[in-house]
Amino acid sequence: MDPSGRKCESPGCENSAKLQCPTCIKLGVPGSFFCSQDCFKSNWKSHKIIHALAKGEGNEKANDTFCPWPYYNFTGKLKPFPQTPKRTVPLEIGRPDYADHPQGFPLSEQAVKGSGHIKVLDDEEIEAMKVACKLGREVLDEAAKVCGVGVTTDEIDRAVHEACIERECYPSPLNYYEFPASCCTSVNEVICHGIPDTRPLEDGDICNVDVTVYHRGFHGDLNETFLVGNVSDKIKDLVKVTHECLQKAIEIVRPGEKYREIGNVIQKHAQAHGYSVVRSYCGHGIHRLFHTAPNVPHYAKNKAIGVMQPGHCFTIEPMISMGTWKDEMWPDKWTAVTADGKWSAQFEQTLLVNETGCEILTKRREKNGQPHFMDKL
Ligand SMILES: [Zn+2]
Ligand SMILES: [Zn+2]
Repeated sequence: MDPSGRKCESPGCENSAKLQCPTCIKLGVPGSFFCSQDCFKSNWKSHKIIHALAKGEGNEKANDTFCPWPYYNFTGKLKPFPQTPKRTVPLEIGRPDYADHPQGFPLSEQAVKGSGHIKVLDDEEIEAMKVACKLGREVLDEAAKVCGVGVTTDEIDRAVHEACIERECYPSPLNYYEFPASCCTSVNEVICHGIPDTRPLEDGDICNVDVTVYHRGFHGDLNETFLVGNVSDKIKDLVKVTHECLQKAIEIVRPGEKYREIGNVIQKHAQAHGYSVVRSYCGHGIHRLFHTAPNVPHYAKNKAIGVMQPGHCFTIEPMISMGTWKDEMWPDKWTAVTADGKWSAQFEQTLLVNETGCEILTKRREKNGQPHFMDKL
């Protein structure tokens, strides 16, 4: 063991690190330790961006050689940056079926697809969901701590990944249908499912971090949109109204309510502020399965099936856009962006229907009286 306790910066590599990047030494960049030439070389593509940044070259400069889809017309200003290799989870931590499937297929989910049956959780399952959701919340709070100007979404992903492992959790997004990272980071015009990469967040950006953890057989799912540096009042209002949309939707959750009502509440509030509701992505049932019945659309006059009952667990996660509700996908087959490039925000909680209403299983817990950034909007 290296007495410095330094670990190789190559994602997933647990070896102690002795080699420091010579360019970083020259530029006075701290850190940048690797265990071997091999690890250094395999990370070169993403690592060299640090050099460009240290030399004061802007994002465009750092990224000007990276152009994976020259034929694609981006809807907004955001561009992809190189990604780091997939991180690994120690095998002692319980993993969902898709973690080791070659195409990341969640076979247990696919087996019940289309049945529409909404599971009623028993007391033991409810207790397990409460634990998973509490841990998910802790992980998202760790992401919130690192999110800021100059920080890359890959660094947020690393924080999420490490916070999961510390809590004996598998980061649910990792290898789900081959998703290459441990959380989703959706910046500015990205609606959802953004892949963490080496783009440093800029002053005025908004960044949604969507965390799901898998702990002892159960998933807990939540997300928040964070403000990066000084965000304009116009964009702050979008984030605030999106948060209100989620709060208002949660207020109607109780036994006997129809799942289709949620969308009416959300769209009414979004529309009153001149915003639109994304239609392609919905809330979902969640427990032993990551995504299952019920399907929970966030737009009005939807035809969602099902009535809420005590013991149901599901998410509400409205995506609210400043311009069109229409989305399109980047050629990476994950990143959903607004069709007009205008910005979009999102908040998500996992809920448990109880006898009188619902419990927000992923709710923020007041710790050392720290105010939440939403309280300041
Ligand atoms: Zn989520
Ligand atoms: Zn979700």
